[in-house]
Amino acid sequence: MIKKGKKLYEGKAKIIYATSDKNLVIQYFKDDATAFNNQKKSTIEGKGVLNNRISEHILSNLSQIGIKNHLVKRLNMREQIIKLVEIIPIEFIVRNVASGSITKRLGIEDGTVLKEPLLEYCLKDDALGDPLIAEEHIYAFDWANKKEIEKVKKMILRINDFMIGMFRGIGIKLIDFKLEFGRIKINGKTEVILADEISPDTCRLWDSITDKKLDKDRFRKDLGDLIPAYTEVAKRLGILHEQSNVTAVNVTKLSSVKKKNK
Ligand code: 5GP
Repeated sequence: MIKKGKKLYEGKAKIIYATSDKNLVIQYFKDDATAFNNQKKSTIEGKGVLNNRISEHILSNLSQIGIKNHLVKRLNMREQIIKLVEIIPIEFIVRNVASGSITKRLGIEDGTVLKEPLLEYCLKDDALGDPLIAEEHIYAFDWANKKEIEKVKKMILRINDFMIGMFRGIGIKLIDFKLEFGRIKINGKTEVILADEISPDTCRLWDSITDKKLDKDRFRKDLGDLIPAYTEVAKRLGILHEQSNVTAVNVTKLSSVKKKNK
């Protein structure tokens, strides 16, 4: 049995704990939401539970198509055991449709379908606001080597294809998403594997018919109803039965609060 140890790191949406196995850590999903480089903050009850389930589902599916990743298993509603990796300090942003920062940066209309998927690199540095960088910066500052980036690019293309199809099948457009990768020693050899989370916190997901936002933009843009939107994603992915108590309670609570306010 793996025992939970001390807190190693606390990020904006997750906490990492040591375990009795030096190669494994526990990833805890918080309810905290932040946006615009930490300038906007809130707590949204139930968000962590939904992201834990959704990320587990997506990473296990990716594992089945051969994308190695850090997930070992989900432990409970908010925690999963993951392999300890050395995170590459780059956010890999994959875009299929222009939305968010690219529309402002390049004056592109929101919702413009890109001719081909676009991969952008941002330096993972909150103090600098995760600035956009070129691939050359990665090599110049030795954040990763060419072999690693070539491998990551291949994985990203497959991940994007798989996720576009998975979401299309449940009536959702995958607009864009953020991935992180980490280094791990496997049989004495250093390999790069997928890490972090994939959830409505890290993806833009729009309903295929109505373009309704089912992701963190509901928080960023003050659209409200974040929990019902994340719940909708989880339900369409077919993963809500086991957790339905918690999420149903939260959704019921939220909707009863709303009704009272009417
Ligand atoms: P944008 O560059 O438009 O702000 O974000 C592009 C995509 O990457 C969006 O799906 C967004 O959720 C995700 N993303 C970019 N940076 C971060 C980040 O620091 N945290 C999270 N959770 N997602 C991010």
